[in-house]
Amino acid sequence: MEEQTQSPKRRRLVLVPCPYQGHITPMLQLGTFLHNNGGFSITIAHTRFNSPDPSNYPFFQFLYLDDGIPKHEAIPVDLIAVLLDLNVNCRASFEDQMRRLIGGGGGGAGEEVVAGVIYDEVMYFCEEILSDLKVRSFILRTTCAAASLARMALVRLNDEGYFPLKECMLQNPAPELHPLRFKDLPISLTTGFTKYPTLVKGMYNLETPIKAEAIIWNTMEWLEESIVAQIKSKSTTVPLFFIGPLHRIASARTSVLNEDFNCLQWLDEQANGSVVYVAIGSIASLGEKELGEMAWGLANSQQPFLWVVQPGAVRGSKWIEALPDGFREAVGGRGCVVKWAPQKEVLAHRAVGGFWSHCGWNSSMESLSEGVPMLCSPCFGDQKVNARYLSHVWRVGLQLENGLERGEIENGIKRLMDEEQGREIRDRAKHFKEKIEAHVKVEEDQFSSRTHLKDLVSLLSSF
Ligand code: UDP
Repeated sequence: MEEQTQSPKRRRLVLVPCPYQGHITPMLQLGTFLHNNGGFSITIAHTRFNSPDPSNYPFFQFLYLDDGIPKHEAIPVDLIAVLLDLNVNCRASFEDQMRRLIGGGGGGAGEEVVAGVIYDEVMYFCEEILSDLKVRSFILRTTCAAASLARMALVRLNDEGYFPLKECMLQNPAPELHPLRFKDLPISLTTGFTKYPTLVKGMYNLETPIKAEAIIWNTMEWLEESIVAQIKSKSTTVPLFFIGPLHRIASARTSVLNEDFNCLQWLDEQANGSVVYVAIGSIASLGEKELGEMAWGLANSQQPFLWVVQPGAVRGSKWIEALPDGFREAVGGRGCVVKWAPQKEVLAHRAVGGFWSHCGWNSSMESLSEGVPMLCSPCFGDQKVNARYLSHVWRVGLQLENGLERGEIENGIKRLMDEEQGREIRDRAKHFKEKIEAHVKVEEDQFSSRTHLKDLVSLLSSF
């Protein structure tokens, strides 16, 4: 009898990012890793809105989802409303695209099969469609585990009558969420719990059983050991993979905006560890008064600074027209303001000694990975949880507790950058850099991201 040689199946993974920078970045990094290390073909199913330029990813296929949102603001006024709309509007085109994709391959030997779809937790509409189509699904969570746990607890706290939060409660510990206070919860402090429950319930399958094959987390198990243990005890049926920080696992240029590389030359001219890098991420905005307070806090600190102000981030201004009179003269060449920076390179630059940040999760991990201590100014959502952990658990940052006020900013920068006062924080930050370097390389340790990645690739390759 003639023996038939079977060529191995080619496996395709479809990745569905949420179309904002902090979510696009980890998904593209994960796709790059799985393409380079698991040999998977990758399709990115993206909204046309905010799409990365496909020509930067010649090895990925791009499909587009119709989001049906009439007017897109780069910095949305009501982010929750947009996210809820995406979960309704993208359904039809996603189903259509998936039917075409799975209809294309027969799954026989040598043919391509869709091994699964990895969707961002925010794009939870995918789950029902994939279940109907009998396509395996995987969830990517882009926050730290502590922020996820806090979000899941919001429904309980709401049922217990805590929302809207009363001013007098803000400093009190949040029940069962140590070390978070009510003010650190990932919810607006002034409004009630209105649209948010729908989003939280969808993201965390709070009302339906999880159908996904696995949940993938862009964080490190060793960093959040006790939180991870709590999460594991709640979801015993679904494998969990903690594979962060993804930017250290796969290098991919993921910025949707043009990065201004000239600022690296400006950094070259500054002394080692002297510069404060300032950035509030891609979707936070400021009022003119806050911009003024930031400006004078920086000017009065006497420290060199590199400041990212994204066009449109100052409400009512195109860019930095609202900077206060006298500011430019006060800082001269000591300050450099750009529209968007190559952040990872900036944080890795020898001249950068501190990061004044909104504490988005990607920014936090990028700073931890480079051993850069932080001044924490969370704006909303999970940033508040991250800031609390950075300053009180990992103790690599100082938190500005009273919003943006020039005196507090000046003091915070001085404490962080001063050789003596900032020494302990700087030493701890350096220690995290070393730990991260070790954990992205070493496979032996069961907590290391490398071990989780190896297991994830094995699971995906088994389908
Ligand atoms: N970023 C950048 N240049 C900038 C500011 C930010 O490349 O000038 C990147 C940063 O490296 C990070 C991402 O944008 O990867 C922001 O994600 P994060 O989760 O920190 O915050 P978000 O934008 O989601 O609030």
